[in-house]
Amino acid sequence: MDAVWMESGKCRDVDPDTFFPSDGLGVIRAQRICATCPAQEQCLEYALENHIDHGVWGGRSERERRRILRARRKQGVLAN
Ligand code: SF4
Repeated sequence: MDAVWMESGKCRDVDPDTFFPSDGLGVIRAQRICATCPAQEQCLEYALENHIDHGVWGGRSERERRRILRARRKQGVLAN
């Protein structure tokens, strides 16, 4: 697994619970941190490729990631 990007993640210095919010406000709080993260793109792809269901990854909520995966499946970008 090539996870060098994790080293540069803004979340390294933040309580991990921040990225597993229980409400919409918490999601927004996490997304604000992700928005300034240099690893945002790699983080999102990692979560999508590994079908990570929970939490905010790459600045995207669980629902947003499901939407992205659905769209990719429709476009034939994903096999499963
Ligand atoms: S995009 Fe967000 S969750 Fe991903 S590494 Fe950066 S700060 Fe962490």
